[in-house]
Amino acid sequence: MQAFPLRMHPRIPFNKPYFSGNETRYIEQAVRSGKISGDGLFTQRVHRFFEQEMGFAKALLTTSCTDALEMAALLLNIGPGDEVIMPSFTFVSAANAFVLRGASVVFADSTALNPNLDALALEELLTPRTRAIVPVHYAGIACDMDPILALAQARGVAVVEDAAHAIASYHRGRPLGSLGTLAAFSFHETKNIISGEGGLLAVNDRQYGPRAEVIREKGTNRSAFFRGEVDKYGWLDVGSSFLPSDIIAAYLWAQIENLQDIQQQRRAIWLRYEAGLSALAARGVGLPALPDYASNNGHLFYLVCRSLDERTALIDHLRQQGIWAVFHYQPLHQSAYYAARHDGRPLPWAVHYADCLLRLPLYYELSEADQHYIIDAVLGFYQTY
Ligand SMILES: *Cc1c(COP(=O)(O)O)cnc(C)c1O
Repeated sequence: MQAFPLRMHPRIPFNKPYFSGNETRYIEQAVRSGKISGDGLFTQRVHRFFEQEMGFAKALLTTSCTDALEMAALLLNIGPGDEVIMPSFTFVSAANAFVLRGASVVFADSTALNPNLDALALEELLTPRTRAIVPVHYAGIACDMDPILALAQARGVAVVEDAAHAIASYHRGRPLGSLGTLAAFSFHETKNIISGEGGLLAVNDRQYGPRAEVIREKGTNRSAFFRGEVDKYGWLDVGSSFLPSDIIAAYLWAQIENLQDIQQQRRAIWLRYEAGLSALAARGVGLPALPDYASNNGHLFYLVCRSLDERTALIDHLRQQGIWAVFHYQPLHQSAYYAARHDGRPLPWAVHYADCLLRLPLYYELSEADQHYIIDAVLGFYQTY
């Protein structure tokens, strides 16, 4: 007979989607209201929340962060010949949104301190063709926004914050997503608050508000029509269908109601990791660093190993103990699509984070016992490695 191991720790996934319990109740309400297409009651509630609590001039729910970024590229009239600066170490959607409009992407390196783009090296990347800078607040930790905003203003360049990680996180006390011309959030199930798939465009420069509504509604002024501002709607501009069903908004509303609790719990987990693992810094293992201008929303906790081999061995070691820890982005400037289009500058920090950064499990339900098990497993690895 096959012998089973007596004690096996249950698998600890990298992520578990948060669920408050009210999501299904609100979805049922949306269904019963008889209006489950876009811009229903829950969507309006979500918009009001972001406009009032985060100070966005206009908040527009989208079907994803990817879509919000595509809306940003349309709104800014990005086209062939334009250049857009963004970090190489980020998710591909930031680049796709602008590449789809025919623009060139100019990749910036990350900083030594954290994976955010190196704001102090931005100036040499700007040319008369530069139309936008896309800072990505990695792990919900703010980019160095003062020099980015100053440079953008001086050169008449738009700033599109990729705030996919950055819900309810701050730069010098101001909510991330409220600083740029435009900003994009994600509610994908791996983020702090979720709707399965989902996103939001924050419009901070008011001149873009009316057109953002039109682009989101297939290029029509249907939004103004539903508000009773015009007596029929027509086709005014380019656009697409970027608005989600109110069912998605209903799900999201239940998460927003618990935002403070979610953030508190995630930060507590983050701080336990930091306390448990900070001794590794003396061995040259990197831990997330918070600049004095940045807050922490507990979106993700990472280690930066000293080499790719070390990270591979650590991932294997943790897997053997049932713990799923994962690496993150491949550098976009080395991707199959972009490698031949990149200008050839080496971006050593982007490559370093791609090779060496490891994300540990972090989700609302992660128990203290499981977390100590993870911390012990990491420390155990470094006792012998
Ligand atoms: C998740 C993510 C996105 C894409 O979000 P979707 O809602 O899945 O489109 C974009 N940028 C960053 C940095 C992300 O982490």
